[in-house]
Formats: sequence, structure tokens, C-alpha cells
Amino acid sequence: MADFIYSELKSYGLEVENHSWEKKGYSGKNIVATIPGEDDMEIILSAHYDSVSVSPGADDDGSGVSSLLMAAKILRGHSFKHTLKIVFFSGEEQGLYGSNRFAEEMYGEGRIILADLQLDGVGHAVSREGGKKMRLSASASSVWIANLVKNMAEKYRDEIGLDVLIYRDFAGSDHQSFINYGYEGVFFLEYEFNPHYHSPQDTIEHVNFSYLAKVCKLAIATAATIADEEINMMVRIVEPERGSIYFGDRKIFSLDDYQVIVLGKIKVRAEICYGEEADIMEFYMDGVLRGVDTNPPYEYIFGRIAIMKHHITVLAHGEKSEDMTEMDVYTFNLIPRYWLK
Ligand SMILES: [Zn+2]
Repeated sequence: MADFIYSELKSYGLEVENHSWEKKGYSGKNIVATIPGEDDMEIILSAHYDSVSVSPGADDDGSGVSSLLMAAKILRGHSFKHTLKIVFFSGEEQGLYGSNRFAEEMYGEGRIILADLQLDGVGHAVSREGGKKMRLSASASSVWIANLVKNMAEKYRDEIGLDVLIYRDFAGSDHQSFINYGYEGVFFLEYEFNPHYHSPQDTIEHVNFSYLAKVCKLAIATAATIADEEINMMVRIVEPERGSIYFGDRKIFSLDDYQVIVLGKIKVRAEICYGEEADIMEFYMDGVLRGVDTNPPYEYIFGRIAIMKHHITVLAHGEKSEDMTEMDVYTFNLIPRYWLK
């Protein structure tokens, strides 16, 4: 399968590379095709080419893979402002392993990724209604991508004929790996539940090709639009680092994964990684505004007693635009704030 994808992409005249990964005793390779842009900002179109062992995986995720090959064929030869990567992941069914390693590396190299569009299970529709609708899942900071997909569907209603329903936080596909590393991404999914999912019956006979073509067109339109989008501002959290354990503001240990664990107070530092500076940076915990900073370095220390998982949101407001970024932190801060000076 990997060899087929690789040679197919090569035959389109694209730059292709294998990205090998290892995790928890598993190993595999992702296949990455690149359409270089004028800058290094990246937009990623992705799917997974592995399937569960009992299933041929025609819909999960042969549908995404074939859409991506079609996208590669159509988009090659076009040039965009940003760099477009078409990525075929493996290890998805074991636990998003291939995409986890990929996103981890991008994060480690400080790459700017604008969006990941993941297509996973986009070829099943049996009813009239199912053939006209698609589900799209987005995290809070990824809602702008979901809205853009919805706008594309409206703009090209006559050519495509799909209604997009936006849902929040279906974590079960490779877009989640990007979200885990602080990037933004959405998950394209068929509207109707596929009863053949993860079974020997997930075969090509059960794929609805006219429906698949609709989703494919919508994904291509979205990718091409984001690839030419003017970006005004991008904010990211640089501290705590993902995949680390901290004692207060001191990093004491690196983890083999994306989680952030903080013992004591949580010091958060945000940075504008692209575009205009922020006039004000707001720091939220679990949706509640706790503090602001108006000058770089933009920092806030969450000092209250807190245990378990918390959601940190940072919102940057500039003159022309604003941007948001998120992080989950596991914390064990049982020491009253006046003990730790
Ligand atoms: Zn899948």
C-alpha cells in the first residue's frame, strides 16, 4: 500500500518522501508529498492508509486516501502562497501513532502549520439525506477552518452539493495529533454512520463514489483557499513546552508524548510566531479569564490551587486581527500560593 501511494505520487511529478516513525513497539512510515509555496507556512491535507486487521478498509480510510491522491493530481502544478503537504499516515488504528510522531517533529522544529484537514471515512452514504450532508469536527481554536469549509460548501453549492454540519471535538482521527501539539485541524466525516466500519464488509462495493467525489471537491477547494490565505497574526504557547513535566516554571523531564504535567504553579508564556504584535494577550483557564499581559514576553502565572486536567486558552488581540491557541495541562498544585514565592 505504502509503495503504491509513493509511486503514484511520484508519477504525478511531486516531491515525495517517506517519514518513518516508531512508537510503543510499533513502527511504520507516513508518506508525504509536498507542493512548495512562496513561504514555509504549511497547510496539510491528510488521511490514513492503515486499517484494522479484519477489515479491507475501503471507507476507513481508503476513501480518504483516494481523495488525497485525487487532490495531489489536481493541485500539482498550481502554486500557492503557502506550502501544501499531502500526508498519508499509518498507525492510526493503533492510536494515531504515525501522525503523533509527525506532529511532534513539526512542533520540535518550530514549523508553522496553518491547518490540518483530515479525511477519514468520507465514502459512505445510502440515503438521500446522507448523500447531501457531511460532518466536520473542530476544536475551539479550529472553528475558523470549519467555518471556511462551510463557506466553501455554500459558495460551490451548485458544483458540489453538500451541507456541512459542524461538531465539536471528535478526537478519533489524525487531526487530533496536530491539536495535541498546539496546531489547528478538522476532521471530515460522512454524515451517516457506516455499519461496515471496522468489519470485513468495509469493501469497495459499499463505497458511494459520487458522494466521495463531493467530499473530495470540498476538501480540495478548502485546501487551495487556505493555501492562499493572507495571515495577519498567529499566536502560540511556548511555555510550558508540550511533552514535558514541570516543577513550577522549571522543566524537569521530557515525556515521550504531547502531555504537559505541571507540579505547582503553571507559568504560561505565549508568543506571536507570525504577523502583527498583540496589543493585549488574555490568559484563560477553563474558560475563565485570569489575567492579561500587554507587552512581550507575554506571560501569566496560574497560581491557584488546582488539580487534574485544565484547559488553558490564550487569546491575542492585535490592531487588525486576533488569534487563539489552546493547551491541556495536568496539574497537581495543592500548595497554597503564598508557600511558593
Ligand atoms: Zn479511520
